[in-house]
Amino acid sequence: MQRRRIIKVKDKSFTVTISERAIKRQIKRIADQINRDYEGKRPVFLAVLNGSFIFAADLLREIDLPCEISFVKLASYEGTNTTGSVREVIGLNVDITGRPVIIVEDIVDTGLTMAHMLDTLKKQNPESIDICTLLLKPSKLQVKLDIRYCCKQIPDDFVVGYGLDYDGFGRNTKDIYTII
Ligand code: 5GP
Repeated sequence: MQRRRIIKVKDKSFTVTISERAIKRQIKRIADQINRDYEGKRPVFLAVLNGSFIFAADLLREIDLPCEISFVKLASYEGTNTTGSVREVIGLNVDITGRPVIIVEDIVDTGLTMAHMLDTLKKQNPESIDICTLLLKPSKLQVKLDIRYCCKQIPDDFVVGYGLDYDGFGRNTKDIYTII
């Protein structure tokens, strides 16, 4: 059966913009790079929940290295100071001290989430940290980030599918869809 090119998630409509085939091809490309770059090493992949769960599952199956994966989450709570929301990395249950770390993220938008994640992880003295993202919106970046692995750069439009949600829904599609 042919998959629908336009879907409705809650009150919004989305059209398919990145096919499952294209996603898989890009994942293979960056997995090959990681396999080469990390030869002889035992990296720890840290997948940022919830959005990266499908990406991480597909990426890991293309990795030939001895490696571990752990799933972390950024919990937001209102801080007592004027900076407002404070975000804390929770669920990190592997010791990353002295280990090469690869952060697996669904999408980098302003980059603030990733910058915060880097700051937090660096305090644990890993050997190195690389960022691996499925999608990147370069026009939205507000901070300087060295993104070593990126499957695809996209324009500044809201996307869902393949793990990414709109208000909790829409994660369960094989393709990626853009809002219309
Ligand atoms: P940043 O801190 O880089 O601005 O935000 C990154 C987070 O915002 C992502 O992990 C994701 O949860 C969310 N996000 C940013 N852009 C999109 C988008 O187009 N679609 C979805 N579903 N989430 C997005």
